Amino acid sequence: MNGFEAVCPKCGGHYYGWALNAERYRLCGKCGIPMEVKRDGVPVPAGSSTAGPKESKEQHPRLR
Ligand SMILES: [Zn+2]
Repeated sequence: MNGFEAVCPKCGGHYYGWALNAERYRLCGKCGIPMEVKRDGVPVPAGSSTAGPKESKEQHPRLR
């Protein structure tokens, strides 16, 4: 499966969706702490967001 996924190191919450490309969605919805984000299975370092201002179709990542 392609795309972004993130796992909260505290509560184990699993989020996925392209919205994770945006820095502000990389916080756990429960804990409010930064999550470990991967894109296509490759870890994404913090501050590497490529989401531009033109991308307005963002959706909040869904909790799986
Ligand atoms: Zn959490």
